[in-house]
Amino acid sequence: MNRWLLALTVLAGGANTCFAPALAAQHAKTVQMSMDSILTFGQLARLDGVTFCVDGKVLSYISADLDSIGRADVEAHEAKHREQYARWKSCKAFQDYYKTPVGRLESEAEAYVAGYCVAVKMGADPVQFKGNYIRNLYALFGGGVMPGVILETWKKYEHCK
Ligand SMILES: [Zn+2]
Repeated sequence: MNRWLLALTVLAGGANTCFAPALAAQHAKTVQMSMDSILTFGQLARLDGVTFCVDGKVLSYISADLDSIGRADVEAHEAKHREQYARWKSCKAFQDYYKTPVGRLESEAEAYVAGYCVAVKMGADPVQFKGNYIRNLYALFGGGVMPGVILETWKKYEHCK
């Protein structure tokens, strides 16, 4: 099954679809979505990656339009979201946590760091990448979270192996 057919199947899943958006890499696509939104193809095309849960199945979409570092970054980011889902007893439990400001910041910071570590290992500029992601996280909250809090949360997860 190709990626688009898979995405179409997922989008047809309807009401219980949820998303953890990846605002990935230097592409910095800052799309905000609610957890129960249905993505149009146009919106999907502007995302580098997205992870969602449909009928208890956690799935990720990764854009095919990425360079090798971007792809590795987004794959690591979305893999982290799948891991986050797996820590909770149900998709809904994770979604409820993700809907809170703290849950969203913690989840996205951890996922961004996962992608950052992979990208830097592949030769990406750590200062530039980190700067982009801190800005992405800040944008995710519309400036409603203090930059210091975002930096602190980032540092909590920044232990690249
Ligand atoms: Zn994410």
